[in-house]
Amino acid sequence: MNPNDSILQRALSLGFSHCGFAKAEKLESLRPFYTNFIKQKKNAGLTYLKRYTEQRLNPDLLLPGIKSVITLMMNYYPQEIIPEEDNYVISKYAYGKDDHIVVKERVEKLAFFITESFKPSLVKSFFDSGPVSEKIWAQRCGVGWQGKNTLIINRKGGSFYHIGIILTDLNLYPDEPETDRCGSCDKCINACPTGALNSPYQLEIARCISYQTIENRGEIPQEIKGNLRDRIFGCDICQDVCPFNRFAKPTKEKHFLPSPELTALRKKEWREMGEETFNRIFRDSGIIRTGYQTVKRNMGL
Ligand code: SF4
Ligand code: SF4
Repeated sequence: MNPNDSILQRALSLGFSHCGFAKAEKLESLRPFYTNFIKQKKNAGLTYLKRYTEQRLNPDLLLPGIKSVITLMMNYYPQEIIPEEDNYVISKYAYGKDDHIVVKERVEKLAFFITESFKPSLVKSFFDSGPVSEKIWAQRCGVGWQGKNTLIINRKGGSFYHIGIILTDLNLYPDEPETDRCGSCDKCINACPTGALNSPYQLEIARCISYQTIENRGEIPQEIKGNLRDRIFGCDICQDVCPFNRFAKPTKEKHFLPSPELTALRKKEWREMGEETFNRIFRDSGIIRTGYQTVKRNMGL
């Protein structure tokens, strides 16, 4: 079996739904985007986005001698959506165990497999960390395109995926890059309650409910606060309306399933929840990092 097929088979057995390959090269065409992004302070409070621009544009600075990029996608679309009526809403990616534990470990396992099987000199894995332009690589690896809602969309499965990246000096056959299939659709732009997608393909982070409810520890601006639509951790609206998510299939990954205790919560229980109960219910969840006080603030308490 050639390395591409072998890596793909191992990725599928580790629970990834898609795995694609691209030739590592400079992403010089992105420079105006990054320059503008930083100049116009579009990173909001996410200061790490201002750093390591040269590494984002040139993977050889991250891993000198790099030849190939591998993009991995793991489906987290739930088997059951937690009812939104009389409830607060959390993003579907946070229903189960923290993706920084589950997905990161799988990406690392695949990197280890590549090292053991093909003995390249260099292999480095990334999951939601490090200055890697993961959405561009996903498109170049043919596993999806960056939609007008700025998320990676797979044409057969939608956008409810975690994305991991592996860089290596192994020579791998590149896949055909994916093309933009949004066409004249503008459902996500029209559905966004805060105008965060007013410029298609560019998220205005400071206006995004996800940023405000997860990352911002200060005051939520009044105009956003009035449009939270009971979201207390993340948002998902621009994904829920995307026609490609009609193809989303429920995940088989048991770590992403919500606990019965989380599924049973309604507004009353959320509002009455003490810190100890919160820490118990969410001890393995990414919500614990945002913390009790911030989630309570998001409820308006
Ligand atoms: S996550 Fe919500 S607020 Fe952010 S862009 Fe999508 S719809 Fe708008
Ligand atoms: S809702 Fe339409 S425009 Fe937005 S990402 Fe999906 S296909 Fe593209």
